[in-house]
Amino acid sequence: MNDEQERVDRLNERLAQIRTRIANARKIAHREDDNIRIVAVTKYVEQDVVQLLIRAGLVDFGENRWQVAKPKVESVPSATWHFIGPLQRNKVRMVVPYFSWIHSVDRNELADDINRIASERGLLRNILLQVNVSQEEQKSGVDPEQLKPLLEHCAKLSHVQVVGLMAIGKQNAGVAEARAEFRQLKALRDEVQQQVGILLPELSMGMSNDFDIAVEEGATIVRIGRYLVNFDQDL
Ligand SMILES: *Cc1c(COP(=O)(O)O)cnc(C)c1O
Repeated sequence: MNDEQERVDRLNERLAQIRTRIANARKIAHREDDNIRIVAVTKYVEQDVVQLLIRAGLVDFGENRWQVAKPKVESVPSATWHFIGPLQRNKVRMVVPYFSWIHSVDRNELADDINRIASERGLLRNILLQVNVSQEEQKSGVDPEQLKPLLEHCAKLSHVQVVGLMAIGKQNAGVAEARAEFRQLKALRDEVQQQVGILLPELSMGMSNDFDIAVEEGATIVRIGRYLVNFDQDL
């Protein structure tokens, strides 16, 4: 067993690698902006690892299922929690108080539920609209053609603020395919924000396998799970 300090050292090393890769990707893309948020996806790990991640200076954490997230969010409610998975309407009441960001809004009814609960509790929630860019049947996310009406609907709600778009890349996509999807999400964002007249600064895209490509293509939020939380394992 590693002792605590050894684990912290390994985690810091992994985090440094991630930051270097992000910096390189920014350089390649000539990105001047410095607002890239690393969301540490903690769905695979327990509370103790969340504590280590906090010690390493991380502030944003992502979870995709309420049941798995519950003990972690309850023990660190002051962290910034991002809900990144499919959200069932009967879980909205539990999720909204803890998660100030919800990345996976893909239909009007869900946005309405989030807005209602946030309103009851006097909260304002950041939401992202999840788009099914790869048009996979089984995947959640709004179809690209339905994005504009969804945005127009959400823009009218008082207790949610639509801050951007999110996509999950196709599994086992190659570099070229991943890049094409990220590009498509950004193009959609540019198009729809022009059409509707709302700024959508955030692009949540890129995971362990492809976060540097996502940054090259304009990601402002990368959601990194395995590559970060498995810092105990060599790659
Ligand atoms: C699990 C998950 C991630 C993290 O995936 P890794 O490949 O482990 O980095 C990112 N986004 C969503 C929506 C997830 O469910």
